[in-house]
Amino acid sequence: MTEGEEAGVRFEVTHVLDAIERHVTTDATMAQATVDLGEIAWFDDLDGGRAVNLLRLGLLVDALSRHLGEDSVMIYPVAGRDLLSDQDLTSKERMVLGRWAGDGLIEVLPAVGDRVVEIDDLTGLPVVSRDGYPGWESRYPWLRTQTDRLLRLVPAEGGARIVGGVPGPPKPDGPGATLLARIWRCPRRDCPTLGEHRLESQAVPGIRSGVPVCPRHDEPLVNVGPRAPAIVFAVLVDGVVRTRFALRAGRSVVVGRSPDDPDGVRIGPWLAGEAASMVSRNHVRLELRDDMLLVSDMSTNGTVVRSRNSPFTAADEVHLGGGPPYPLKPWDSIELHQGVVVARADRNLARSVGGPGSVMGDAPTIALRPPPVAR
Ligand SMILES: [Zn+2]
Repeated sequence: MTEGEEAGVRFEVTHVLDAIERHVTTDATMAQATVDLGEIAWFDDLDGGRAVNLLRLGLLVDALSRHLGEDSVMIYPVAGRDLLSDQDLTSKERMVLGRWAGDGLIEVLPAVGDRVVEIDDLTGLPVVSRDGYPGWESRYPWLRTQTDRLLRLVPAEGGARIVGGVPGPPKPDGPGATLLARIWRCPRRDCPTLGEHRLESQAVPGIRSGVPVCPRHDEPLVNVGPRAPAIVFAVLVDGVVRTRFALRAGRSVVVGRSPDDPDGVRIGPWLAGEAASMVSRNHVRLELRDDMLLVSDMSTNGTVVRSRNSPFTAADEVHLGGGPPYPLKPWDSIELHQGVVVARADRNLARSVGGPGSVMGDAPTIALRPPPVAR
């Protein structure tokens, strides 16, 4: 490799790590699956390359994107301290991991143990793993029965693929519902996982002898009060989920091509052709007020609500053109233009298969060695 080529590889790896970073979160509301980050980074059978490689998380992101038909999958990674100090990581990888840990994008604990399964036990999120969790069935009996919550990552042509079912949305009445209905704070106020700045987008508390504890510091948490409910929405363009956002009580969110509000959901980058000119910069405003979910049309060309009482009934079309806020039912979807849909992510989304992009860029061909087709 020439010096120029090496510099190109370094640039590409940085670019890929940035792309992966957009898919990691420890926000319990936004996460869609959990993973033991070390298990994936040390999974050298995926590409037959170095013993440890952080880019393997990108293979997981791509595999889960294809599995779910989404461009916006969010992973909740848990890492033991041994991964962060692994001398076989490049200095760039160690720096990025340290930053993710400090920013609370990944959860770091002294040892991972059963933490990934505990998160799944409390939230109902699926876990992506290499081998499943043999030996933990007596503590978590659902590991035996609810196999749709256990996804396996296996080597495949070009990287990796997920084996397992497509998990349904987490049940709001799961065992952790009471726990997650409150705001918890770590006694160490600067804790990246559950500190003072994490009161809204909060990680999942741990449980020791029935007491909520900080998974990072193992200290009992402070009960700050009830948590405002939140609903997660997905934006689908031509059947592919392009982005997700949380709507929290007492706060409104504008969705459009390029909303004036910096906290709005900007969908312009995914629009093409007629949709790019028909969707307004500020198209709809959503709000959650007194348990009512309201949508207001702010657009030039109007908005259609496809209203249905269940996933099995035919939809009625309701045309919104300005006017007062319209109350949405749980199965309703909002069409900004044909093929551009906003719908609750905790309901079955009418997805098409295929279409999502890749976070890996050209990385598999340079920094990871994809396995040969047959081995
Ligand atoms: Zn803490």
